[in-house]
Amino acid sequence: MIGNNKAKFVAGNWKMNGDAAQLRTLTSEIVADLGECNNVALFPPNTYLWLVREILRESTMGYGAQNVARADNGAHTGEISASMLVDMGCRYVIVGHSERRHTYGEDDTLIAAKMQCAILSHLCPILCVGETKTQRENGDIFEVITQQLTVGLAHIPFPQHIMIAYEPVWAIGSGKAATPKQIMQMHEVIHKWLAQQANECKIAVLYGGSVNADNADAILSIPQVDGVLVGGSSLKSSEFVAIAKSACAHY
Ligand code: PEP
Repeated sequence: MIGNNKAKFVAGNWKMNGDAAQLRTLTSEIVADLGECNNVALFPPNTYLWLVREILRESTMGYGAQNVARADNGAHTGEISASMLVDMGCRYVIVGHSERRHTYGEDDTLIAAKMQCAILSHLCPILCVGETKTQRENGDIFEVITQQLTVGLAHIPFPQHIMIAYEPVWAIGSGKAATPKQIMQMHEVIHKWLAQQANECKIAVLYGGSVNADNADAILSIPQVDGVLVGGSSLKSSEFVAIAKSACAHY
């Protein structure tokens, strides 16, 4: 486990939301309420990484980016490389989020290149995997996830400093989280797959998809869940702090 080696991990993905004033307030409130918490990380839009860095300067709380380039420098207009993120103090990066896959057409091969760049720069990437509603209805879910893991991690030697986030696409932003049984089944499959790559590898597997202050405790109580990736509920400090406090009670 990453974090304080005890508490489960909590990542707050702010997506493309907020402005400097709002995100300054949000970050300050979270830090004030949680204090020292190295099992929590914030993922602001890139333009506000400097601001989060400034507020977290004295804190053990981490932060990271929501995406990374597939190359480390050169003619890649509009992209931000893993080494630039490290330069900005990032510890983590989200790779292959469903919005990147489905809205921006990122495929597993591109995601694998991004994973490799993150690892080479010593960032901890959080690889997101998850099935669509149709894939679930067709009963393909274990094959879909195994394929995303196999290709997405093709260039990664195990054991490695990474995390996996299981985020069913139909649960993201829908207000309808997967059931504890669905989460447990898929996390078991992912843990088993990871163990086959290297016996000793202890890689955290997070759950994401409509996690909120009301359902966090039930989700974090599942032994196969090592933490949560939170979208909408990370934009309200009271909600996010409640989720993080719940995570600190589970290890
Ligand atoms: C996410 O953005 O990864 C996510 C899980 O969003 P939400 O919590 O809003 O479903």
